Amino acid sequence: MDETALKKYGVMLKELESTLRAEIEKTVDDSAPLAVDGRMGRISRGDAMQVQQMALEMKRRRDIRLQQIRTALQRIEQDTYGLCARCRNPIGAARLEAFPDAINCVNCA
Ligand SMILES: [Zn+2]
Repeated sequence: MDETALKKYGVMLKELESTLRAEIEKTVDDSAPLAVDGRMGRISRGDAMQVQQMALEMKRRRDIRLQQIRTALQRIEQDTYGLCARCRNPIGAARLEAFPDAINCVNCA
């Protein structure tokens, strides 16, 4: 992959990383232990727990994505970015545009 493309994906990855970080920080409160002081209003404890589960699940997914983004950034440094981690074929440009953190090609994903 040429330098210009690498730089472009590097910028995209950094942006993705900071967006995700901001989202993770913003949602920390949602996954905090349930409030028991009645601030929940009419939401039942069951609903609140479900909301908490969803928040945790979203946080988990964001953490995984963040990890993936960091891996992709490392791959830029190691000059293996854009190559499928499994079959070593180049990952399509359209796929990288949509998911700059993709480390597998369409066939291996
Ligand atoms: Zn592959």
